[in-house]
Amino acid sequence: MTKPPILGARHHPAPPAHRVVIVGSGFGGLFAARALRRSPVAVTMIADTNHHLFQPLLYQVATGILSQGEIAPATRDVLRRYPNIRVVLGEALDVDLEHRTVTATRLGRTFDTPYDSLIVATGVRTSYFGHDGFRHWAPGMKTVDEALELRGRIFGAFETAETEVDPVARAAWLTFAVVGGGPTGVEMAGQIAELSHRALRRDFRVIDPATARVLLFEGASGLLTSFGPRLSKVTERDLRRLGVEVHTGAMVTDMDEHGVEVRMADGTVQRFGARTKMWAAGMEASPLGRLLAEASGAGVDRMGRVEVEPDCSLPGHPEVFVVGDLMALDDLPGVAEVAMQTGRHAARLITARAGGDPGSAPFRYRDLGTLAAISRFRAVARLGRLSVWGFPGWVLWLVVHLAFLTGFKNRFTAVLHWAISFIGRGRSERTITSRQTDRVGPVA
Ligand SMILES: Cc1cc2nc3c(=O)[nH]c(=O)nc-3n(C[C@H](O)[C@H](O)[C@H](O)COP(=O)(O)OP(=O)(O)OC[C@H]3O[C@@H](n4cnc5c(N)ncnc54)[C@H](O)[C@@H]3O)c2cc1C
Repeated sequence: MTKPPILGARHHPAPPAHRVVIVGSGFGGLFAARALRRSPVAVTMIADTNHHLFQPLLYQVATGILSQGEIAPATRDVLRRYPNIRVVLGEALDVDLEHRTVTATRLGRTFDTPYDSLIVATGVRTSYFGHDGFRHWAPGMKTVDEALELRGRIFGAFETAETEVDPVARAAWLTFAVVGGGPTGVEMAGQIAELSHRALRRDFRVIDPATARVLLFEGASGLLTSFGPRLSKVTERDLRRLGVEVHTGAMVTDMDEHGVEVRMADGTVQRFGARTKMWAAGMEASPLGRLLAEASGAGVDRMGRVEVEPDCSLPGHPEVFVVGDLMALDDLPGVAEVAMQTGRHAARLITARAGGDPGSAPFRYRDLGTLAAISRFRAVARLGRLSVWGFPGWVLWLVVHLAFLTGFKNRFTAVLHWAISFIGRGRSERTITSRQTDRVGPVA
């Protein structure tokens, strides 16, 4: 016997779900999406990479400790269990605030995605402060591409040094210059020092990797200034013990294939031969931020970040949220925790609105502190007024990074790779391709 139709379902279809578009699959975008997984909304996430990137561990990909897959799982896979979330690969080019659409492009094809609510979480990118030519010689550390490029340059430099007969040229191949003494520069300098002095010690026959020089240039008067004077001093001391040559008050004014020119703290200009350079000195907002600000009349700060209302919405557009690194609000720092919390905050407001509550609430940041690893077993951490360093700081670093790495499998293999690198001497992710070694010179 055929069942009678269920009248309610057939004749009164459910109203179309509230459409949410999220641009960006970083911490802000991903945490917003996850917070919407059980909401009565249809989410489309548009991002220009197919992965969610755990940027704090990029330096470990560059120095051969972790594989890129461990810190950059496919976003589609991370969100596979949530049927109301669709993931689309594409670069967002524009937002039409009046007609509420996002225009994106993928392989020359442009498409529009309509929204009822929008969350923009496109973050920041490396800034060379007007010296865009530096990009060729000193990659930044913001994407998987850049980390792999740096891996190629670092391991490629040791390979080239092994066959270089001219001692001056060989010394330049064995000199690594890191520009910027924030967390990324500090972590990178510490890891290259450990790599050369420890991990690669027995691997070469002509060169002695332990003779490699690691130079760290910072324009301010100290390293990790946002961690306070005490941890700044501890960091400098620990890096010097590792053999890193730390130059504070030192501004890199020029660079080329063979080295860098630096205005030192005493005003003299010095040249350092260094074939491998990396840039960790500055960030600027992604271009979408400026577009949104121009279209809405919102202000931007020095980095081009969008000044938002206390609830993270765009002035005059309560349906648009700007979260994470791209947002300027109350001088909040560009850290993962701010991105996660603002992403979740926007998601909560959207869920309430989709349920008929048009209210708003200001964002309140819960500061959980910041961390930076200096070497194996040494890290610095600022937790409110509390400063932790040395081995206890490193244990904290380990626990926090394990907790926030995405996916159980990644946590498991990361622990394995950390054991290989920190307890043993190995670096299991040293593979570089011929394309990378051939490009130890300028980026094409
Ligand atoms: C090397 C490094 C180390 C760091 N270490 C730490 C740390 O130890 N602790 C800490 O708290 N924070 C750290 N941070 C900062 C932290 O990673 C950021 O604060 C956080 O990633 C910001 O999240 P977000 O979502 O705002 O931006 P992001 O994570 O940068 O994500 C932006 C997303 O937008 C996408 N995107 C950009 N433009 C477009 C476009 N036009 N169209 C589509 N998609 C686009 C990007 O591909 C990416 O998916 C570090 C950052 C770096 C670079």
